[in-house]
Amino acid sequence: QAKQAGRNTLCLFDPQMQAGLNKRAALEADLRSGLEQNQFKLFYQIQVDRQRRAIGAEALLRWDHPLRGTVAPAEFIALAEESGLIVALGNFALREACAALANWARRPAMAGLSLAVNISAKQLSQQDFVRQMQSLLRQTGADPRRLKLEITEDVVLGNVENAIAVMRALNKLGVEFAMDDFGTGYSSLAYLQRLPLTQLKIDRSFIAELRNEGNNAAIIRTVLALGDSLNLQIIAEGVETEPQQAYLTDCGCRYFQGYLFGNPETLAQFNARFMG
Ligand code: C2E
Ligand code: MG
Ligand code: MG
Ligand code: MG
Repeated sequence: QAKQAGRNTLCLFDPQMQAGLNKRAALEADLRSGLEQNQFKLFYQIQVDRQRRAIGAEALLRWDHPLRGTVAPAEFIALAEESGLIVALGNFALREACAALANWARRPAMAGLSLAVNISAKQLSQQDFVRQMQSLLRQTGADPRRLKLEITEDVVLGNVENAIAVMRALNKLGVEFAMDDFGTGYSSLAYLQRLPLTQLKIDRSFIAELRNEGNNAAIIRTVLALGDSLNLQIIAEGVETEPQQAYLTDCGCRYFQGYLFGNPETLAQFNARFMG
């Protein structure tokens, strides 16, 4: 009853909010049809070691919108999560990524690369996610040991026990997990220790405003020390300048991703790095 009244109030007296809701509904419909019409693409951003040798890539979604041009994930991931469309979108990304991995395995210069795919907590909590991954790996022929799934700290907001069980089952297949945007979320160190991770990605916000021995420098040193003691590989995201890489290297960081090494690019562009 109260809910009903609230809804009416909203319609009658807040045209601005109503307009916002209409816009959301329109975007959701647009997302749905974009999925049906194959408007989504997977881009690839290189990840490197200290010598700038490629160690792998991160797969990143782009929406090739017929009217809006290329749309970045910031414009659609949140709504995809809320509407549940993230499951279909995420499946698309996983399928494309596994196909790319299987293809790289046949190219000597690319066979050693790993590929990281972002997955949302919603995907991980699907009843049959492990079985789905198994059949996807089988269908594509991708080596699970080259596949890394990037999760964010919000997995601990849901059913942590279930998340851990799913991660362990995928670990058994060879699939590894990275904690993305580390340091920006809600997870406690207690959870961090319990999740079967192999990598932490230092969020790019700590690197963007890096001043020697400022607060962010202290955070970076702490994350690297944490990685050491928990036996986790650390990769720095959003590295844009030589001094940033030099500082991170000085702190002991061994792996890097960012515009300094390459932008997210099409699969053909990424593959071309390894030809000739
Ligand atoms: P993320 O996983 O943290 O990905 C890294 C983001 O940083 C990407 O933004 C990348 O383009 C951007 N980036 C890389 N290097 C630099 C740099 O040097 N400087 C700056 N300023 N930015 C850099 P993008 O591609 O816009 O993706 C944003 C977020 O959308 C991702 O953040 C990820 O959380 C989400 N996302 C992307 N693809 C997927 C997907 O397939 N599934 C899910 N669930 N989320 C995705
Ligand atoms: Mg990521
Ligand atoms: Mg990140
Ligand atoms: Mg992220």
